[in-house]
Amino acid sequence: MARKLTCKNCGATSSPEDAGTNWNPLGRRYGKMLYECDCGYGLFAGLFLTSIATPQEVQDQRRAMQDAGIDPSKDLSTGDREKILKEAPPGDTDFEVGDRVTHPLYGLGTVTSVEEEAGNRLVAVLFDEGWGSVALRLNVPDAKLRKT
Ligand SMILES: [Zn+2]
Repeated sequence: MARKLTCKNCGATSSPEDAGTNWNPLGRRYGKMLYECDCGYGLFAGLFLTSIATPQEVQDQRRAMQDAGIDPSKDLSTGDREKILKEAPPGDTDFEVGDRVTHPLYGLGTVTSVEEEAGNRLVAVLFDEGWGSVALRLNVPDAKLRKT
């Protein structure tokens, strides 16, 4: 039995498995399940914490799924998720602190600093999974790093 989730925008509460639920599961994004609420906002559901997803993030996820040929009304497998990341359009290389990025080896992360050093642009990224609190300094645009 799945737990009940409460929308931080409209206050609607139900379990995603309830009949007539306000939640539409959109697969995983940023390492968390993303549920779309009927009101257009969404919820990132982690193991202990939930956080609000903006309508923009919900639509970005829907578009990424559709671009990858996946029906957003169905739950995502790990393979589907990797497919979405692989086929996501490359972002520009003009990174800013706070940008969400993806790397083919390290996965998803957040840019924590951008520096110019000896003519090179170094981007430090804190990756979500596996790499824990390790911040890598990547030389862009050589690194296969792009915005999500
Ligand atoms: Zn809502």
